[in-house]
Amino acid sequence: MNNDSTRRRFLQVTTGGLVVSSALTSPDTRVAGATEKVKRVTSGTGDVLRTTGVLSDDGKAIFESERPIPVVGKSDVLICGAGPAGIAAALAAARAGASVQLIEVAGCLGGIWTVGLLTKILDAGNKRGIMMELLKKFTARGSQVAVDSNGTVYDPEVAKLVLEEVCIEAGVKIRLHTRAVGAVLNDDQRLVAVLTESKSGREAWLAERFIDCSGDGDLAAHAGCQFEVGTGSECVCQPMSMLALLTGLDPDQVRPWIRETGSTAKKRLLELMEKHGINPSYRAPTLRHLHSNIFSLMTNHEYGVSAFDADAITAATLRARREIHEIVQGLQRVGGPWKNITVVATAEQIGIREGRRVRGRYTLTASDLASGLSHKQAVCKATFPIDVHALNNTGNKEINREFKTDGMQPYDIPYPALVAADVDGLLMAGRCISGDFIAHSSYRVTGNAVPMGEAAGLAAALSIKQRVMPHKLTWMAPAP
Ligand SMILES: Cc1cc2nc3c(=O)[nH]c(=O)nc-3n(C[C@H](O)[C@H](O)[C@H](O)COP(=O)(O)OP(=O)(O)OC[C@H]3O[C@@H](n4cnc5c(N)ncnc54)[C@H](O)[C@@H]3O)c2cc1C
Repeated sequence: MNNDSTRRRFLQVTTGGLVVSSALTSPDTRVAGATEKVKRVTSGTGDVLRTTGVLSDDGKAIFESERPIPVVGKSDVLICGAGPAGIAAALAAARAGASVQLIEVAGCLGGIWTVGLLTKILDAGNKRGIMMELLKKFTARGSQVAVDSNGTVYDPEVAKLVLEEVCIEAGVKIRLHTRAVGAVLNDDQRLVAVLTESKSGREAWLAERFIDCSGDGDLAAHAGCQFEVGTGSECVCQPMSMLALLTGLDPDQVRPWIRETGSTAKKRLLELMEKHGINPSYRAPTLRHLHSNIFSLMTNHEYGVSAFDADAITAATLRARREIHEIVQGLQRVGGPWKNITVVATAEQIGIREGRRVRGRYTLTASDLASGLSHKQAVCKATFPIDVHALNNTGNKEINREFKTDGMQPYDIPYPALVAADVDGLLMAGRCISGDFIAHSSYRVTGNAVPMGEAAGLAAALSIKQRVMPHKLTWMAPAP
């Protein structure tokens, strides 16, 4: 990595030959007094949940007591995060014969595709494999639009169902509502277990191989991998955006403002908004038509919010949701074709463009994009341009031209960028792979996340069969 100052490590505590690292996500506790044992007891069901710990003298931390954590799962491959990358990883590993455990914190599969209400898959056109399979399935299940997008504009609700069906059919074990909060390494720096928190309490899951598809690189960070965030020494990240589904519009009447009808549609929508005193925080408001009279809208930017600051994300979420409703109310006042516009749903999860970029055995850089990298272990060919949204509301342009580099060529995403450099047995796929700020702004889109997941899942399964760690795998992904 280029900048040592951006490297961070989670606290690691050695216990009984294993290195355990854990985010401080202990259950809710009631503090009875300094240095006093802390207990939490639930009543009513007969179950008793009890956590003990010691409050530090300065009152700023609680030291949890050692406690046994039940091992509840054992699989060949464990995947953390069920977004586009995680789904593809799970399918590929399962279809290659591995037993697969998929762990997801949300209440459905799909990540940004579903929980984030994305509705558009970019850079999918040149992909085959699981990406094409899913597009066909989305289309076949009614996720079709007036302007034919070959399934790349899809209905998130259709996606939820399709993803569950394909994973169940492939034999993937799914655990929803469960967050990875820790990692266990053996003495050889090999990841051997993941710790989770859920309504079932704190649990441990063993596996031969792990794939971090959490988008934010949570599992890799818990395992002690080095990573980068944003542009460099401080977290100057791409903005977050909340998306929404809308109804109450006639597709024929609002056609000029629908993104799929042409690149000027966004400008036209902004002009309409500004003319009526609506000033969206994202200056390239994007209206998509999904099918019937269901639409999606992206018109929000939340600047400078760290993906690792729950208070900041909470504040951004509340602001963004309020802004969407205010904008829709403003459009209702425009009248005409807009008078019945209504919010169907805002995303439960605000869209996070940037989390950790975990250090891998290859780091994709801006110069790889400029030269159109060709790599013998190519996972896929990325063609999506460098796309850095405004980093603050000064100017507030759609794309931050400051970061545009001339002559970006289609480039290969190399398999070693998916293999963790600091820990064995761990792969990454999706937006948390190894790359610099500029490269990430291109490869992060979901038409690339899916083939990355497919390659990581296959590599995990093959590396078990070949009895080698993923970085020693004698395997080359067929580049679509
Ligand atoms: C606002 C916005 C607009 C975008 N527009 C487009 C677009 O139009 N088209 C496009 O293709 N791409 C777009 N992108 C980029 C793209 O969506 C992301 O880069 C994409 O999400 C990458 O997929 P992923 O699977 O790596 O991550 P995600 O979709 O973020 O999936 C990660 C999954 O991991 C889960 N998870 C996270 N942490 C944990 C944990 N600790 N334990 C268990 N589960 C966990 C999450 O709940 C989630 O389901 C956009 C992104 C944003 C934010």
